[in-house]
Amino acid sequence: MMRALTLVADRDLAVADLPPPPPPGAGEVQVRIAAVALNHIDVWGYRGMAFVKRKLPIVVGAEASGTIEAVGDDVTRFKPGQKVVMYGALTCGHCKACQEGRDNLCENVGGLIGFHVDGFARELMNIAERLVIPVPDGVELRDAACAPIAFSTVQHMLFDNAKLQPGETVLVHAGGSGIGTVAIMMAKAIGCTVITTVGDDSKIEGVRKLGADHVINYRKDRFEHETRKITKKKGVDVVFEHVGADTFNGSLLSLKRGGRLVTCGSTSGPSTTLNLMQLFQQQYKIFGSFGATMQNIAESLDKMAAGMRPVIDTEVPLDDVGAALKRMESRQVFGKIIVRF
Ligand SMILES: [Zn+2]
Repeated sequence: MMRALTLVADRDLAVADLPPPPPPGAGEVQVRIAAVALNHIDVWGYRGMAFVKRKLPIVVGAEASGTIEAVGDDVTRFKPGQKVVMYGALTCGHCKACQEGRDNLCENVGGLIGFHVDGFARELMNIAERLVIPVPDGVELRDAACAPIAFSTVQHMLFDNAKLQPGETVLVHAGGSGIGTVAIMMAKAIGCTVITTVGDDSKIEGVRKLGADHVINYRKDRFEHETRKITKKKGVDVVFEHVGADTFNGSLLSLKRGGRLVTCGSTSGPSTTLNLMQLFQQQYKIFGSFGATMQNIAESLDKMAAGMRPVIDTEVPLDDVGAALKRMESRQVFGKIIVRF
């Protein structure tokens, strides 16, 4: 038997003993999971979402790293012992979007791993070779576990969607969150000016260490006012949004004319109102961003190999994941939580 972490009901996780997978089939590899990184999508999954079609219990875990345990017939890209990470959705590999490398726009996606279908929080799993990405030498598996979602989501948002340029000014919301920490590092790495928000003064030093030029405690000051002050009323080129209802309109007010807002989340709530006159008169560009491409994961791993390491809040055993998700919900986290096997 092998250990796995399963969601048995809303807000109820249990460590289970499951039968190990059979030998990998043709075109498949078997991966021994080393580390699972937690994301806000795990919080959504844990809370339960009525519109999500899934059967419980489900194995949780949406991004992970591991080593190749065995390979199926005709697998040539991987060999046992190799370090890898896995793509987070069961894309088809055949549709136009998949063929063009826009994997996160797959027309026949079979579900998000760890959300709709069984996830990575288990000792062994079989997965299509096509969904596996090699980890470069010099990148630890603990860090690599943050590539498929945290790093690559930010890579996709900032560079594929918002087309962030060196020298631009970017407002990063929740700079102490998993993706916030990554956004600060990636923007600073190309020479941007970074304004970021935190909800607690204890996080100020941490985001400064990552390179943030200006830090706003959004519980004490209106971030949109502070941002306009910092930019001498011009506004920023890009806003990195993932907070949603609480911040969205303030984010638009923080943009310069023609500025770009890119969003991948709505942790404070999914609905807001929009002033359409402001939208077109100010010529804002708003990008919805979800997931990433295979290419983004490779780019993320290359950045890690070059020295951009994820900020790790804590490493927890399987039994403590429920408590870790509650801590994420209450925003008492700085960086990423890693589940070790
Ligand atoms: Zn597809």
